[in-house]
Amino acid sequence: MASEKEIVQRDLIILGSGPAGLSAAIYAARAHLHPLILTGMSLHGQAATTDTIENYPGFPEGVGGSELGMLFQTQAERFGAVIEMDHATSVDLSNNPIDIESYGKRYLCKSLIITTGADPKKLGVPGEKEFTGKGVSYCGTCDGWFFKDKDIVVVGGGDSALEEALFLTRFANTVTIIHRRDELRAGAVLRKRAQENPKIKFIWDTIVTEILGDDAVNAVNLKNVKTGEEKRHNTDGIFIFIGHIPNSDLFKGQIEMDKAGYIITNGVMETSVPGVFAAGEITDSHFRQVITSAGMGAAAAIQATHYLENLEAE
Ligand code: NAP
Repeated sequence: MASEKEIVQRDLIILGSGPAGLSAAIYAARAHLHPLILTGMSLHGQAATTDTIENYPGFPEGVGGSELGMLFQTQAERFGAVIEMDHATSVDLSNNPIDIESYGKRYLCKSLIITTGADPKKLGVPGEKEFTGKGVSYCGTCDGWFFKDKDIVVVGGGDSALEEALFLTRFANTVTIIHRRDELRAGAVLRKRAQENPKIKFIWDTIVTEILGDDAVNAVNLKNVKTGEEKRHNTDGIFIFIGHIPNSDLFKGQIEMDKAGYIITNGVMETSVPGVFAAGEITDSHFRQVITSAGMGAAAAIQATHYLENLEAE
């Protein structure tokens, strides 16, 4: 990677500034590693887009997603972490120091923690963007509470859609699952539980073509993919669970990943590349919670500290 860019050298760099990255930063900074955090495009990650987070311990009244991100950042900076608003455009893991480039700079580090997260797949229909946070949600655990006694729809037919639909029945009056086929992708146990739940209804062979509302969502337009029939379906909210896309393109071919592109780690957050750790949703297609990501970030930083100590001792 030859370039004339300013070179920044650090023992430890963290890519990503969500709960995993900033928790890793707090632990690494307290271990006097002076970590540098490249924030990526979305400062404080997906959690910052959540209106209120009510399940993060220590905040009995809930906390705004962006406020929590800012608190994580302040805590990391207090111990000496440096947060840089920059976005890696290429990463070379084949040598140590690891070589990272952004548009303006080149970063070299002995150890790297990858916390670049995953983004929920979007439907890409009119109204989706405008009503995100106003009735459009990608997280039942985060937002289900706001739909107490409401009628809502869930889009998707996989494990996530069914698991979340079942969770949402704790709050909602009815949960209508809209699936583009007439057969669910989800496993047998979830299928059975969903089909037996009296609050859950299904609309088969159907896609959402538009999300409608005024201040908040009040309806969706649907289209039957077999008959072509279109109709309006009134709803108070739409939860979309059609999969996630891990932000791992930068590392393709350089590190072990699963088929979906999630980086594979062992129990101590080590990846297939020595000195490179991963934490949070880039390695977790299952839990996707602020608390679990933060825990993984802390674990990755502890392990990176051991790695750097051993490197020093050699
Ligand atoms: P997934 O298995 O990929 O399912 C995505 C669902 O969304 C599918 O039903 C798919 O339809 C539908 N879909 C995709 N794109 C769509 C679009 N543009 N419009 C409408 N529908 C669309 O994703 P997931 O449910 O998030 O699960 C991801 C992984 O995590 C899976 O391996 C799953 O087993 C695992 N997981 C496990 C659990 C559990 O075991 N408790 C819980 C959650 C997730 P088609 O079926 O037609 O493709």
